[in-house]
Amino acid sequence: VGQAGTLLEVQDVRKRFGGLKALDGVSFKVAYGEILGLIGPNGSGKTTMLNVITGIYRADTGSVLLNGEAIHEKASFTIAGSGIARTFQNINLVDDMAVLDNVAVARYGFEKAGLSQALGADWHEAAWQRARANAVYLLDALGIAHTASARAGGLAYGIKRKVEIARALALEPSLLLLDEPAAGLNEDEQIDLADRLRTFSRKGLSILVIEHNMPFLMPLAQRIICLDHGVVIAEGTPAEIRANPLVIEAYLGA
Ligand code: ADP
Repeated sequence: VGQAGTLLEVQDVRKRFGGLKALDGVSFKVAYGEILGLIGPNGSGKTTMLNVITGIYRADTGSVLLNGEAIHEKASFTIAGSGIARTFQNINLVDDMAVLDNVAVARYGFEKAGLSQALGADWHEAAWQRARANAVYLLDALGIAHTASARAGGLAYGIKRKVEIARALALEPSLLLLDEPAAGLNEDEQIDLADRLRTFSRKGLSILVIEHNMPFLMPLAQRIICLDHGVVIAEGTPAEIRANPLVIEAYLGA
């Protein structure tokens, strides 16, 4: 078991690409139910950090603990199975499938892949019904229940982004990693998304969010860390971060 209250702990993670130190000794924690913002200039290492946490990249040194258990040497599928889900900047829905099915299939495929024995038709039917019921709940929680039977390809951009988030939440993660969730959303959509993410976090979901949009992130995150050249240069509340001279120089003032 991890330190009380801590879901994810990143300890002194280093990752090089050739001569480039993409992550140069990064440490931070995410508490249960916390929304932590990750900011920094382009190339500062934010995406690399997410890729290390999810097992896409392996850290050169350092560790990543989830609930006190080391995950940094595990395969990405195993890490996903232990409760970390992620959305990407690009949208990746099956256009010709209904929204509900796009969400349900994420859960169904995940459950099925976690089981090695041959599964009978009954299992498939029951798993698919469970997945659909869960998808109905998630679409409702994200305020897009009315799109359930619509073809995903025809949706407005802001709705597609929410469907992507629903697909990640369908895996019932304890930690959700979001990469610029507000990109391309109008102001009303941003406010709505922030509200809904807060509701999930109040129920215990932890969220680590990369975001350049400060008006979106400041009221959403309880805490923010700022990376620059692979180093954490600041960590604090949104108000502390906004006033931090290092952050202003490296990032906000640019
Ligand atoms: P950010 O997400 O903050 O924009 P990244 O984590 O994408 O930053 O990149 C950090 C640095 O690592 C950049 O200089 C980038 O070019 C480099 N980098 C990222 N991934 C790779 C890779 N697979 N191979 C080589 N260099 C990479």
